[in-house]
Amino acid sequence: MNIKKAAFCYALSIIMVLFTSCQVMSSTKSIDFFAMDTVISLKISGKQADTALTQTKKEIKRLEGIFSNTIEHSDISMINQNFQADFETIHPETKEILQLSNHLSEETNGCFDITLGNFVKLWGFTEETKRVPSPIELQQAQQHVGNAHLKLADGILLEQQIQLDLGAIAKGYITDQVVNLLQQYDIDSAILSIGGNVSVIGNQQQPFQVGIANPMQPNTLIGSISVSNCAIVTSGDYQRYFEQDGIRYHHILDPKTGYPANQGLSSVTVICESAALADAYATALFVMGLDTGIQFVENHPEIEAIFVTKEGQVKCSTGIDSQFTPHSNVQVIS
Ligand code: AMP
Ligand code: MG
Repeated sequence: MNIKKAAFCYALSIIMVLFTSCQVMSSTKSIDFFAMDTVISLKISGKQADTALTQTKKEIKRLEGIFSNTIEHSDISMINQNFQADFETIHPETKEILQLSNHLSEETNGCFDITLGNFVKLWGFTEETKRVPSPIELQQAQQHVGNAHLKLADGILLEQQIQLDLGAIAKGYITDQVVNLLQQYDIDSAILSIGGNVSVIGNQQQPFQVGIANPMQPNTLIGSISVSNCAIVTSGDYQRYFEQDGIRYHHILDPKTGYPANQGLSSVTVICESAALADAYATALFVMGLDTGIQFVENHPEIEAIFVTKEGQVKCSTGIDSQFTPHSNVQVIS
């Protein structure tokens, strides 16, 4: 792993699970590896921890090979090259993630939109070299971004030049697949951390304590939450960015403009049962900003969220407020 990757992993790995004594079990096995352009840490406890860990790693690599648009023969690369595919020629998981993404795009009023591949390419977020595109380049790319250009019926049909990017949902979707897979094994608990996505499963006596990174100093925590059997996913402006002329350009883009979303937030953490939903909503809420975002969450009882503003203030949705413990000096908005 090169230094850049290592630094990036370090920033992402800061969402951490803080162990309580009851969670340290005799047969706990763990593994760290690099996939999906991020660091993956898996910790599994129980009789079949070893086998479960091996199968989990295999499944993550398999799904990465289907969804990544930087892997040559993945389903998404094939769709991006041909602008179409029959459902029979792609994996069922691809059909499912595209249908879910399509629905989420409509539900979030386009704040989450997987058709923004052209914008992501212009900024170079998936390349070695990142750069600020010109306004003209972004305007031209804008014509080839938008969920209306993606048609799902008997198969997938993209209007010419549309490029899909599953970066804001694939990690969460894969985490859900792994959680399902783990049900086949005799395990007591598991902590899955895929980049900014954490899922905790298990029926221990006390809930897990999950730390939320402080976006201003990502190697420290802004607070922690007490949760069980759920996904905790953070989208933040500190996770992937570059700086030019003193300005930080981060990777969460507003699909309506192509520029990094700038609605006064530094991070959004979503807590819900499904990691795929948590992942997509965290990105979408970041684009919406605090006022619209908190309204959206309060209208969706299945999700909770913790917003951190650029000033470092924290706002929790009603259902998670009592489970959040801020670190000292952190200002929580009521
Ligand atoms: P996340 O870290 O989950 O917020 O996802 C960010 C990644 O998803 C970026 O690196 C892009 O590849 C892609 N992306 C950026 N902005 C959006 C957006 N508004 N909707 C969907 N995907 C996005
Ligand atoms: Mg996301």
